[in-house]
Parts: sequence; C-alpha cells; structure tokens
Amino acid sequence: MSYADLDRTQLEELRRALEREYADHCAKGLSLNMARGKPSAAQLELSLPMLDAVNAASELIAQDGTDCRNYGVMDGIAEAKALMGEVMGHEPATVCVFGNSSLNIMFDLVTQGVTHGYLGAAPWKDLDGVKWLCPVPGYDRHFAITESYGIEMIPVALGEDGPDMDEVERLVADDPSIKGIWCVPQYSNPSGIVYSDETVRRLASMTCAADDFRIFWDNAYCVHHLYEERAAHVADIARACEEAGNPDRYFAFASTSKVTFPGAGIAAVAASAANIAEIKARVGIQTVGYDKLNQLRHVRFLHDAQGVAEHMEKHAALLRPKFELVDRMLEDGLADTGCAAWSKPDGGYFVSFDGMPGTAKRTVALAKEAGVTMTGAGATWPHKNDPNDSNIRIAPTLPPLEELEQAMEIFVCCVKLASVEVLLAA
Ligand code: PMP
Repeated sequence: MSYADLDRTQLEELRRALEREYADHCAKGLSLNMARGKPSAAQLELSLPMLDAVNAASELIAQDGTDCRNYGVMDGIAEAKALMGEVMGHEPATVCVFGNSSLNIMFDLVTQGVTHGYLGAAPWKDLDGVKWLCPVPGYDRHFAITESYGIEMIPVALGEDGPDMDEVERLVADDPSIKGIWCVPQYSNPSGIVYSDETVRRLASMTCAADDFRIFWDNAYCVHHLYEERAAHVADIARACEEAGNPDRYFAFASTSKVTFPGAGIAAVAASAANIAEIKARVGIQTVGYDKLNQLRHVRFLHDAQGVAEHMEKHAALLRPKFELVDRMLEDGLADTGCAAWSKPDGGYFVSFDGMPGTAKRTVALAKEAGVTMTGAGATWPHKNDPNDSNIRIAPTLPPLEELEQAMEIFVCCVKLASVEVLLAA
C-alpha cells in the first residue's frame, strides 16, 4: 500500500514495526560495504593471468623496437594505443596511453586549463571566474576536481538521453566563463543512462561563448555492458565535433581500471590533433614516460577489442546476478510504498536511487548505524549538496551475493523508516 494513503495512526504503527525490524538488523553487528564502485575479488581474479603475460622470460621489446624496460615513448607504445583506440572508438593517432588512472589525466587537463590555457586561450587563473556544467546526478570525483580549483559548478539535470540540452545550450551560448562540462556518456555514474545520438550532436555543435569550452567525455564504462543483446552504442564524439566544425571541443577518456585491475590498469586520452600535440608537449614536461611494461602486459592479455569484449562478458556474468538482486529487492520491498524510484542500468557499476525528498541523508545514516556503508548522501551533486536530499548511489559490485542481499534488506528497511519519519513530521 502506498505510504501516502496511510493515516497518522497507521503511519505510527508502521514506524513502530520498522523500528523493531531495524533494531534486529543492528543487533546482527554486520559490516557491509556498498560505497564505492569496486570490482569484487572474483572479478579481479579474472585478470590474474595477465600477471604472467609479462615476466622475466618474456620478449619485452615493443612492435617498433622500443625496449619497454627503459625510458622512451612518452605517449604510449603503438600497440597500447591501437588497443585503447579500438576500445574507445578513436583513431590510434589521436590517442595517448599514459599511466594507471584516467581521473589523473582529467585532473591534469583541468589543471592545464587553469595554469596554461588550451591552444592559446587565456589561462583560467587570469579570468574573473570560471564555471563548469555538472550533469546531476553525477560522479563525485569529477565534482571534486572542479571544486578543488574553485570553479563554480552549475548543476544541469541528467535525463534518459543525457543532460538537459536546452538548458546546456542556453547556458553556454551567453556565458564565456563556462569552460567545460563533465560527461559520462555510456552507463553514466550513477544513473546508468546512455547519451542519445541527438545529445552528442547537440553537444558537439552548440554555440559556445567560450572558444576554449571543452567536453570532458569520460567514457569510463565504454565496454561495461551487462547484457550483450542490449549493449549501448554512443555516437562518436570526435566525428561529431569535426563535422560541426569544432574539432578541438572534446577530450575523451577511458581506462582499464574496471577491465583488469583498478589502480594498476592503463588509462588513455583521445583528442584532436591540435589538442594531442599540446597534451604531449605538456605531459613531456611532467614525465619522461609511463609504465610501458604494464601497457605491454595489457596488450598481451587483452589483445584487441574482441579480446576485451570476451573478457568483459566474464565480468558481466558475475555482475548480472548482483544488479538483478538489487532490482528485485527494491521492487519487492519498495515498489508499492510509492516512495522510491531507481535506475535499471544495462551496464556500468551503479544503481541510482531516489527516495522521498528529505530522506537520503537519514537513510544513509541509518544504514551506517546498522553496519551498511553507502556512498554518502549528496555525493552525486556538486559540493555534496543534493537540494532535494533524495539521491543515493548504490554500488552493488563489491560484496559477494549473500552479503549484498543482507545489505539490501537493511537498506530497504532504512528507506522505509526514513520515509515514514518524514511523513510523520510533515
Ligand atoms: N570516471 C568514472 C565515471 C568512474 O566511475 C571512475 C571510477 N569509478 C573513474 C573515472 C576512475 O577511473 P580511473 O581508475 O581510470 O582513474
């Protein structure tokens, strides 16, 4: 029965029942974690053979004769560029393969905007103020980067097809201080949505008051399908920008963090020839070069896009039951209460949950008290400030299935309790 239809006496009775259930959960003394999008131990095991792909007995010379044990080739060995280019859908010549983290490359590129400027534009530190478009709900670590430079973050609603493009176009057309937008075009973190072709076209072609406006195209989940038959295909941002006459507008990113080993994968950036030349010149000052042995290890293990797809299917087989469990438990526990909505992603690492306004912080606090750690409420908004206090990111990948079930049971109880409390306080 919908909670909205309950009178005060019924709500009070329900609260007492939920408080009893909650106390039982707390008494179990559990310690469960659904906070971050980490692969499970079983997923990590899938990539263990990669550690044997490069050893003391291996040929350690790259295709072009580069000795991968030594300095040299700052922008990635050719075979790693070919692999990441194929995975990301970009020409290898437009790709650099750097270190172990795409987020690191994003941070460095925002930094360069601030300190040096892009392609001759004024560094942002010399301007009166810089703004950034932040589709919400979004990825907390993106927002942390722009926040760390004091960039004013403007939330824009993220719908089923991507950011609200009417709003994005309106904002960028008149305001030259808006310098960029965070985008996770496929299986967005956390809502799992996929940008439509029309969204990609409009982002690439919209009129921007800032010449140095950049789309930070974080394709972190470009190969992370849960259902091969429903695999998403996002339009080519490079081509769209070229066709629109704005070839330098995008920086695209991906990594193998959730393909092989987070923190020990390889990360890449793709961009126009002019951007890549500038990136190389600047990164060449930061480092003599990245870990080519790890690049070689990845190429020998994954081979090509087909090899990556086959490997990702093994991840998907482990992840599908978890996502299906989360959906089933939310459906069974909350569908008829009328106080919750959640995403049903076809890929990626998260479920985005929306409770009643004013319940997210309380729900997460209740869950924590009962031994279930969730991503902090508000994390999906700039400055961790969800004005509705309703969105919670569920990260179901790390716990084993039995633990996930226990955690979701507690989560559902906490959502109900927080909702009843809000209704009684109204
Ligand atoms: N982008 C998004 C959207 C992510 O969800 C994550 C990791 N959870 C990252 C980037 C981090 O990637 P990396 O490990 O390559 O820094």
